[in-house]
Amino acid sequence: VQRSNIVVHKYGGSSLSSPEKIRAIAEQVIAAHRRGEAVAVVVSAMGSTTNELLDLARSVTTAPPERELDTLLSSGERISTAVMAMAIERAGVPAASFTGGQCGIRTTDRHGAARIVSIEPERVLAALEAGVIPVVAGFQGVDSQGETTTLGRGGSDTTAVALAAALGAPRCDIFSDIDGVYSADPRVVDTARRLEKLGYWEMQSLARHGARVLNPRAVEHARRHGVDIHARSTFGGARFTVIQDLESTDRDSVFGVAGVSGRRDLLRLRYRGSSGSCGQLLADLRGYELLSHRGGETSVDALVPTTDIACTDRFAAGLSPELRSEIDIAADVGSVAVVGLGVGDDLDAAAYARRALERESISTAGCFTEPEVLTCVVPRAQVDAGIRAVHRAFIDEPLAEVAA
Ligand code: ASP
Ligand code: MG
Repeated sequence: VQRSNIVVHKYGGSSLSSPEKIRAIAEQVIAAHRRGEAVAVVVSAMGSTTNELLDLARSVTTAPPERELDTLLSSGERISTAVMAMAIERAGVPAASFTGGQCGIRTTDRHGAARIVSIEPERVLAALEAGVIPVVAGFQGVDSQGETTTLGRGGSDTTAVALAAALGAPRCDIFSDIDGVYSADPRVVDTARRLEKLGYWEMQSLARHGARVLNPRAVEHARRHGVDIHARSTFGGARFTVIQDLESTDRDSVFGVAGVSGRRDLLRLRYRGSSGSCGQLLADLRGYELLSHRGGETSVDALVPTTDIACTDRFAAGLSPELRSEIDIAADVGSVAVVGLGVGDDLDAAAYARRALERESISTAGCFTEPEVLTCVVPRAQVDAGIRAVHRAFIDEPLAEVAA
């Protein structure tokens, strides 16, 4: 098998929600196989299986042990691999299912949020060599002790891209029920435009800041290994979005903005105090994913996903009494992020975004900046309205707004 001929297809849960859909995907995979492509398939759990398994665990206990939860959740993807392999075989081409462990995916030992450390895809390669279509379970691997781990919600994208990189495949096709990446979530903004091409950094920023089409960690793997991602619709024809290494993309929007996304799952931690306890707070926060943050010497201001701090009381209880009495934790926080090359370095962009929000009576509680992202903090209930307001200003009618 020539490496340049390998392509990884990843199918998401909604594309796999019925036996009919699985059979249709099997036909599609076989069509690519017959065109001469060496196709490896990565699958998510069928439909809403992962949520149902989570509910099942919670109906037994309020605090499921992490190890058992990973064993339970990883089984959703295993079901998909077996059923998909059967469907492909039935349609006339040999196929074989693989768990994450069976296809050599090694991860860190953090249950529920493991990271892929390495992939030794010998068995997948051997299958491809033998003309057998490998069907790999997304979202999972094994740690150095052989324990099953999962990669966090949406982790099948990461499996697919990391597998493509390990196989030396130039491309990974990620199939979902939407035909690409849009300038905003089309369910929120009806004028959102499909983007033909995006750079890795643009896609990674959009995903980190709330675009759910792709997992940010998958994009990070793609960027590091130079794998092109094609985001496309499962049964949706010829239109799709290419995510690749682009130097800069000319965008006909104010400040070269590619897109707007938002998150509804944030906490804001604010602390102003003696420098000693500030260092302590930063140390306490080290294990958490900080979406945005600033400060450090005498103050800290940070946005943290609620997936990381699920229970503020428990988080606060873990702090020293001195910190606890002075820290301000706002729980109903959301964000609207504007992504574009250089947008975060441009003070005019921040003022422009604020005006767009104010015009719609959306109160902003400040902005965070990274070089390519401007993040406005808004009340959680106003995230959708904020995305629409900012999308209108930067993307729909940029020239009118600038002229005004
Ligand atoms: N089934 C897992 C989830 O729902 C992983 C995935 O779909 O990517 O998060
Ligand atoms: Mg997904």
